[in-house]
Amino acid sequence: MAAATMPRASTSRRGRGMATSRGVEVVTSFEEMGLREEVLRGIFEYGYENPSAIQQRAILPIISGRDIIAQAQSGTGKTSMISLAACQMVDTTVREVQALILSPARELASQTERVIQAIGQFMSIRVHACVGGNSVGEDIRKLEHGVHVVSGTPGRVCDLINRRTLRTRAIKLLVLDEADDMLERGFKSQIYDIYRYLPPDLQVVLISATMPAEILEITSKFMTDPVRILVKRDELTLEGIKQFFIAVEKEEWKFDTLCDLYDTLTITQAVIFCNTKIKVDWLTERMRRNNFTVSSMHGDMPQKERNAIMADFRSGATRVLITTDIWARGLDVQQVSLVINYDLPSDRELYIHRMGRSGRFGRKGVAINFVREIDITILRDIEQFYSAQIDEMPMNVADLI
Ligand code: ADP
Ligand code: MG
Repeated sequence: MAAATMPRASTSRRGRGMATSRGVEVVTSFEEMGLREEVLRGIFEYGYENPSAIQQRAILPIISGRDIIAQAQSGTGKTSMISLAACQMVDTTVREVQALILSPARELASQTERVIQAIGQFMSIRVHACVGGNSVGEDIRKLEHGVHVVSGTPGRVCDLINRRTLRTRAIKLLVLDEADDMLERGFKSQIYDIYRYLPPDLQVVLISATMPAEILEITSKFMTDPVRILVKRDELTLEGIKQFFIAVEKEEWKFDTLCDLYDTLTITQAVIFCNTKIKVDWLTERMRRNNFTVSSMHGDMPQKERNAIMADFRSGATRVLITTDIWARGLDVQQVSLVINYDLPSDRELYIHRMGRSGRFGRKGVAINFVREIDITILRDIEQFYSAQIDEMPMNVADLI
């Protein structure tokens, strides 16, 4: 985890919706944050040397107990920051759940569980991922045994609270990772349900790379005088990620285009996005029939299979993953340096999150959009909105990966 250079602010563009609160301090080293000795050791052991821009600004207010809304570009250490804050605030002598972190996808909740385990390795912290698809029995066993931090998906967490297996009375911190997604999609009512069970003096932390204004508005319902920390939208354009398009003209041409790119895909690791599960299955099947090795994942697969596919991809055993937007947010596999939009995403937020699967923590990344004639206006809209430059893919693209 070499500390690569952080992305710089890109061209000027007004940040909309949110501004950073006054008085937010910048602390440029982990040592100066007043963290516990064992947490600090965990951070360094995990390979972090210096805090990223968002970490320099948000860690202090989080560990001082303030409500926070933090927004910064994908891959800049937001989720990791939550993990270390959870380690910092938990009292391991109390065998109760004290922090609850909610994520929109099972794999993301499990990823956060692992980061907490790693950063908390010197402090006997117990963390458990409560996610749909895995055994409820196992959740119950773990929770009864005593867990300090739960990282989960809303459905399963709601279920466990209703069964009284997940006791909420000692929860001090609620985190919504990918908060805009959590408050926008079908999760909203589940989140309110969960919130109702939590103690009144709860600290709430929201983080995401995107925070549309309508979402910001509803946050006042459950946050008290939140500190807002924003890395402006101009900086969300993913400085380190080169974005290109290939004009495929028609849908039928996409497949051959992808086959032609296969050698490029396998230089490191690549994620290919389709807009539907059916399309993922279809494309996977067709690639395999043409003797290309690919793996694939989507939400209709049994969780066991999803877990195995994730493990193989994380270890680098598989290199090309065809998937849906289940993979668009939060997932962190550092070797991913290429993202392909086989289909353009249905909205702008998804575009930025998909791109963010590559170029983690300032690494190099390349994104290639397959663009049919009818997609050109969508691409131009994205380009304009994010002040991004999306050029036609050059011949030497492999050199950029
Ligand atoms: P985000 O949630 O903003 O997308 P993550 O927390 O997933 O970002 O972090 C992206 C990657 O950067 C991860 O691999 C993480 O381990 C790494 N990372 C986070 N903070 C640091 C740091 N301070 N120094 C080095 N690497 C870091
Ligand atoms: Mg994240």
